[in-house]
Amino acid sequence: MRVVYVSHNALKGSDAKVSEEIDQILDTARTLNRQAGITGALMFNRGLFAQVLEGPVDMVEATFERIQCDLRHTDVSILSCKPITERSFAHWSMAYIGSRVQAPATLLKIAEETGFDPRQIDGDAVHEALLTLLLKSDTASDR
Ligand code: FAD
Repeated sequence: MRVVYVSHNALKGSDAKVSEEIDQILDTARTLNRQAGITGALMFNRGLFAQVLEGPVDMVEATFERIQCDLRHTDVSILSCKPITERSFAHWSMAYIGSRVQAPATLLKIAEETGFDPRQIDGDAVHEALLTLLLKSDTASDR
């Protein structure tokens, strides 16, 4: 299955501190996702996270449950949740879309167009935006 969600960033502090915390999130995510057979991508700007998680239903559900409880973000809203036959991010245990690409602008544009109302944000549009940015980005990283 594939889940796409957005959330509000609750990380505070300097850019360096936030970046350190994001690195920690990615380290944990990649380790646990490899064990669980989960792949996906994470986009971040100072205000918002957007994430795609794909993998076996039980594993995606368990992972999303933990993510939802994480105090490093708030207002976690599922945009789409559906069965898939093929993964979009098969090669990434959790790709990170870096800030040098147009990721923040893209995400902000999608959010702005909907008045920041998660109910109006199209999960497929977020999924497509992440995939497109990842494929043309040389800053997307994985470990
Ligand atoms: P533990 O590490 O035992 O932590 C216990 C609780 O504290 C959890 O609720 C945890 O969320 C919270 N926590 C842990 N570290 C901090 C901290 N530094 N500050 C505040 N609270 C903290 N996990 C994945 O497995 N896969 C993912 O793809 C993934 N993506 C994430 C994306 C985002 C935007 C965020 C914020 C987190 C993500 N996580 C992901 C991390 C996830 O929320 C859990 O922290 C992680 O899965 C470990 O779960 P745990 O129950 O072992 O928590």
